[in-house]
Amino acid sequence: MHSNLVANFDSVVKRNPGETEFHQAVKEMFDTLSDVLERHPEFARLSVVERICEPERQIIFRVPWMDDSGKVHVNRGFRVEFNSVLGPYKGGLRFHPSVTLDTVKFLGFEQIFKNALTGLPIGGGKGGSDFDPKGRSDAEIMRFCQSFMTELYRHLGEYTDVPAGDIGVGAREIGYMFGQYKRITNRYEAGVFTGKGLEWGGARVRKEATGFGVAIFTNEMLKTKGDSLVGKRVIVSGSGNVALYAIKKVHQLGGVVVACSDSAGSVFDKDGLDLELLVQMKEVERLRLSDYSAKRGGLSEYHEGLNVWELAGVASAQVALPCATQNELHEKEAKLLVANGLIAVAEGANMPSTPDAIRVFQQAKILFAPGKAANAGGVATSALEMQQNASRQSWSYEETEKRLEEIMRGIHEACVTTAEEYGAPGDYILGANVAGFERVARAMLAMGVI
Ligand code: NDP
Repeated sequence: MHSNLVANFDSVVKRNPGETEFHQAVKEMFDTLSDVLERHPEFARLSVVERICEPERQIIFRVPWMDDSGKVHVNRGFRVEFNSVLGPYKGGLRFHPSVTLDTVKFLGFEQIFKNALTGLPIGGGKGGSDFDPKGRSDAEIMRFCQSFMTELYRHLGEYTDVPAGDIGVGAREIGYMFGQYKRITNRYEAGVFTGKGLEWGGARVRKEATGFGVAIFTNEMLKTKGDSLVGKRVIVSGSGNVALYAIKKVHQLGGVVVACSDSAGSVFDKDGLDLELLVQMKEVERLRLSDYSAKRGGLSEYHEGLNVWELAGVASAQVALPCATQNELHEKEAKLLVANGLIAVAEGANMPSTPDAIRVFQQAKILFAPGKAANAGGVATSALEMQQNASRQSWSYEETEKRLEEIMRGIHEACVTTAEEYGAPGDYILGANVAGFERVARAMLAMGVI
């Protein structure tokens, strides 16, 4: 590793003690940047790497709220505004009990380069809370979102910081937060949030965009080998926003998804998952995946407590799309997938594969798309939502989907050509990291020491 990267990594670890996910995200990035620093000594001379690793601003705040029985709870809210050289901070909010500053920093760091890779004018940020929405009533969710926004609103703005959803934050939560923002500021500033409802400033295809993009990217990778998703058996982890629409697009592109999961267990449906049923259960009825088999009339199996990747033996999948959460796919499961005919992996979630799992895929020459590239369709479509808000326009479904496809193909192309240019053909991790980093670093140099 280049000496500047070694020194900066030591410093990141020292200055951010215990933040192991943030360290992991930085290490994965640095592992691919040595040649960039050799070619551009000015990046080291002007401390670009050191500056990129330090968020421009980190906000931590108290979120008090009352549950339906009158009990008061106190959660912690976060927003890490990481880098704004390419545009306003942009990145989702996550509501999950596991959220810490570490989680938000790793996600915000990744977001800088992902957003740069889209070629659109968006900086990088991320936020969230350790609030657990599971089992909470609508009224409780609303009170929490209103309290969260009562502090966060002062840091947001369509030219400053534009959040969206992530784990535990969908259209309902965005509605409550946008409503509170509008009420406090007395401004209908549609471009301050993305992922809004279609009737109040949202964009068509935003809901589907991340999952659709993952499947489109996978198909593009397969095409480089003269292949496609047609006839491929696929395992998806998770059954949330990203997973559901990855499943939908895989089916549209001719593949068949045979397994998915939630945090309690996994479903195996050997002839292909019933997507309509899943969407109804998860988005409308807000049910758990354990109810799927009963509703499917015994055609599928539910495995309580099983990580979906452990189904690799029975599923015989050629494609794996991890779409749940970070570090969910480990070395042992990667080996099982490879032993059972895997040819491609595309990360719908952020950093879902552990470094050991990635090594297994690379050694086995599996096509591997990192989240930065494969799941960038969501934030790209958020940027399209901001464009529509700014121009007071609303594009058709077909028009928006066409643009999403073009953006995903563009990101794929950028990864392929950058990897070739750096002597690592087929290395999508290097391609995505370097293409994203170079764009951010050039803009930072142009703007002086800020
Ligand atoms: P959702 O909340 O809609 O769904 C998350 C899914 O993953 C659920 O099925 C959930 O199960 C499962 N899950 C969450 N945490 C865990 C865990 N610790 N162990 C096992 N399963 C878990 O979130 P999204 O679909 O929006 O996000 C999924 C991933 O995609 C995240 O990594 C996110 O950062 C990333 N992403 C999302 C984008 C978006 O546009 N939404 C954009 C780019 C990336 P359960 O319901 O049981 O908790």
